[in-house]
Amino acid sequence: MSIPCPRCQTPFTPGATSCPGCGSSLLLEAVPGGTEPTCAVHPTLRSLATCERCGAFACARCLRSGARGEAVCEACLAREPNLPVPWDEREELGTFKAFWKTCVNVLLRPEFFSRARAEGSASSSLLFVLLCSLPPCFVTGLTYLGMFSFMPAMFPIPRAEDQPNVPFEWIGVAAFVASILLGPVMAVATTVLGAGLDHLVLRMGNVTRGFQVTLRAHALSQAPWVLGVVPFIGTQVAPFWALVARVFAYRGLHRTTWGVAVAGALLGPGLLCCLCGGSYIAAVMFFVSQFGGN
Ligand SMILES: [Zn+2]
Ligand SMILES: [Zn+2]
Ligand SMILES: [Zn+2]
Repeated sequence: MSIPCPRCQTPFTPGATSCPGCGSSLLLEAVPGGTEPTCAVHPTLRSLATCERCGAFACARCLRSGARGEAVCEACLAREPNLPVPWDEREELGTFKAFWKTCVNVLLRPEFFSRARAEGSASSSLLFVLLCSLPPCFVTGLTYLGMFSFMPAMFPIPRAEDQPNVPFEWIGVAAFVASILLGPVMAVATTVLGAGLDHLVLRMGNVTRGFQVTLRAHALSQAPWVLGVVPFIGTQVAPFWALVARVFAYRGLHRTTWGVAVAGALLGPGLLCCLCGGSYIAAVMFFVSQFGGN
């Protein structure tokens, strides 16, 4: 919400101390004995708006933007829960403990998001994604390694003597290294893209907080991927668990409604699935129409 400047009526956002239109100071001295309301905290300053939460008269020094962009007084803003996530306390806890405690919170107590601090740097969010992606990438790599090591024993392929003989074990090692090196890079890239798509949907739902908050919510909700250490089961359950955690994260960190949070978490991936699924069906139909007649 914006409040009009008392001099030129240009709207300014709560927290500004000078007008973006006429440049004059918004810290206006109250006329002694005047009829205009004065700030509840600073009686010598004129009140420019009332706090939308407690109704107190507030001067420019006291006005702040609340979680949904509304004008609130400083005291009300301070009362908002703003707890750090264990991941924010890496220096005190140590990276591994901070990571582990955050994962337990996201997996078992996702409602903690509504009390959690919304701000966090992009690098800290992406580092979390990187760590989440390591266990499933490692297990996937090991699976390939095992598959290619045992395949020749189980399915012996007859080979001509003069054919160059590439050992299957080498392909396995290559797949292992590729999945450990490329997997985490892919995870970070898809997080940035996915959060961008979700952020567009959330903005349509009148979310006022910035992209960094969406990125943080998207990143932290990937904690279920650590279940990837359990082969197969982990990778089957993790994506759905992460989606549920993401709804909690968007609702909590953006302080928005369940409806907007669900749309933010599901609409983007859903549309992508329809697009991919649709083009897949179209490709199959084309193939069938071309070659099905024979
Ligand atoms: Zn002005
Ligand atoms: Zn207030
Ligand atoms: Zn004040």
